[in-house]
Amino acid sequence: LARGDNNTMALQIDHFELSLLALEVLRETQMIDSGHEYNSSVTSVFIKADKGLIKQAMRILIDNAIKYTPPGNRITVSVSGAGGFARLTVHDEGIGIASDAVPKIFDRFFRADESRARATGGTGLGLSIAKWITERHGGHMEVLSRQDIGTKISIVFPIAEENL
Ligand code: ATP
Repeated sequence: LARGDNNTMALQIDHFELSLLALEVLRETQMIDSGHEYNSSVTSVFIKADKGLIKQAMRILIDNAIKYTPPGNRITVSVSGAGGFARLTVHDEGIGIASDAVPKIFDRFFRADESRARATGGTGLGLSIAKWITERHGGHMEVLSRQDIGTKISIVFPIAEENL
């Protein structure tokens, strides 16, 4: 694809409950990872969006939380809706991200230059894909992280007007 074709890719728009999708992804995650403690906090939010792509973005955030969180620590997935926006947050008690690296984590191929992070596999593409998916839906991502404390990363996007 040439540059610029990015934003013309057609979305497959579905009407679905974001909170149920999050719980489904969480269930799948718990089947493959017994190494962390999982929690969820969801309220019912219906959205119009490409369900396959949104699920992919969720997976990227959860896979990162698994990779960068020591065994036994907690990973929490939340979904909420307010003011016309839906928010999905993955909160981990992991290694965190140095403040100077935070602005770069959405860059393609960027991986924090920490031996601890380097010990895990990955191409550094995950978050750039999640960001592309989010922006393709008119949304944005937010990240709050502290080294050795953890990371909170959210996808925020508008709920289609019909659902307000
Ligand atoms: P992959 O492409 O397989 O996802 P990756 O995890 O290296 O590999 P990204 O998902 O794009 O790539 O993340 C970029 C970098 O941001 C990571 O290498 C890591 O340094 C940092 N990072 C992302 N999520 C977290 C997290 N939850 N906790 C700590 N660091 C994180």
